[in-house]
Amino acid sequence: MKIVTVGTGMAAAEFVQRLRLAGFRGEIVMCSDENFAPYSPCVIPFYLAGEPLDTVFWKGKDFYQHYRVTPRLSDPVVEVDAEKRIVRTVAGRAEAYDRLFYAAGARSWYPCPEWLETQGVFGFKTLTDMVAIDEYIKEHNIKKGVVFGGGFIGVDAALALRHRGLDMMLVHRNNRILSQMTDKEGGQFATRKLARKTGIDIRLKCTVSEIVADGGQLAAVKLSDNSMIETRLLIVAIGISPNSEPLCGHDKGVPVDRQMLAGAGIYTAGDVAVTPHAVTGETGIYATYPNAMQQTRTAARHLLHGDGQYAGSVNTNVLKKHIDFPIVSAGSFTGETVTWQQGDIWRRVYLEDDMINGYIIIGDTRISGYIYQLYLSRKKVDSTIKKVLSAPRHDAYYRHMLGCGQEP
Ligand SMILES: Cc1cc2nc3c(=O)[nH]c(=O)nc-3n(C[C@H](O)[C@H](O)[C@H](O)COP(=O)(O)OP(=O)(O)OC[C@H]3O[C@@H](n4cnc5c(N)ncnc54)[C@H](O)[C@@H]3O)c2cc1C
Repeated sequence: MKIVTVGTGMAAAEFVQRLRLAGFRGEIVMCSDENFAPYSPCVIPFYLAGEPLDTVFWKGKDFYQHYRVTPRLSDPVVEVDAEKRIVRTVAGRAEAYDRLFYAAGARSWYPCPEWLETQGVFGFKTLTDMVAIDEYIKEHNIKKGVVFGGGFIGVDAALALRHRGLDMMLVHRNNRILSQMTDKEGGQFATRKLARKTGIDIRLKCTVSEIVADGGQLAAVKLSDNSMIETRLLIVAIGISPNSEPLCGHDKGVPVDRQMLAGAGIYTAGDVAVTPHAVTGETGIYATYPNAMQQTRTAARHLLHGDGQYAGSVNTNVLKKHIDFPIVSAGSFTGETVTWQQGDIWRRVYLEDDMINGYIIIGDTRISGYIYQLYLSRKKVDSTIKKVLSAPRHDAYYRHMLGCGQEP
């Protein structure tokens, strides 16, 4: 049996590793538009912040040799012919498969794609982006920059570059950063603390409306409040869209069943897959590493053993990068609130029918594993939840109480 993967990202690398470790001896071909060994996008900002490039290759730089894979790199797949079981690439290659693992992830979404023609404007999604930003900063001795977009990836970008020593401005259209992973109060708390702890200049209720170039290079950006900011570096991180066109003909993601099958002989997983939520059942794209891993393991198990099904995704978000100020959240922010705050620590759960509907934990996230278990298990909680929120105990203590770990 011949396996072809579209993508060499987190899902595809995990899939291939699972198959080989389980003894799969057939041919494996991995196709990518980039020219790298599989890397983890979660840690590429650390490279920009100053860590060695090799640390991003999470399953080893020699992955293709080690797992006996034929890589087809720098050649994007443009079409999947599901009837003939062939993928076609930009360069005109036709790669036949018996089983396809479609894991092309997502790409940055740009409000004005033509901005990218100006030197100094970048996305923040791939290792190719990071290498280009790194070279540009070095070559032009860049000391300050602007990030447009205060979501998870935009904040990650601003933190990484601040850590590198640049003066950073973060421009976000909402009244708080991380608006999808926080509610209003938690988000505003996080915004104030991040600004104070990092010195990042955060401009809220604002967008980048124009860029100004000088000889093809970025010179300034104009904000929607009419202020003009001089900068030679702009990172655009205001959204992503799934790379589902080669398989589906549209960019709305790939719908799957509980075995992660998108069609006969075609598995999918990761940031391109449309899956149900584990608690609410709502279908959507839940673009995080833990979801990608669970989906991939389901697909690998089904291919190898013909059984297993996906339990559903969870919209958890964890920001724990470049700064000692973690933020964790999950679920939906509706229902009765129970909040606890002390100094730099802010914790809130949302309750409905005495069950946790969602939660936000900021500043000290050691209890988040326990809250996560309560959320997933749909256990009823009572007023003691307030005590739990104020607890300084470590995750391991609660894991022990749940019968899944040693008492610390
Ligand atoms: C900067 C950043 C930080 C992040 N931090 C976190 C974090 O802290 N925690 C977390 O849970 N998640 C984080 N994520 C999200 C996480 O990286 C993704 O959820 C995960 O990588 C999904 O795996 P994937 O395989 O679906 O996509 P990817 O790992 O993005 O892989 C997609 C692959 O498809 C390839 N590809 C795309 N189009 C084509 C084509 N047409 N033909 C061939 N190949 C193609 C790409 O080159 C790539 O190899 C972060 C993402 C970014 C960008």
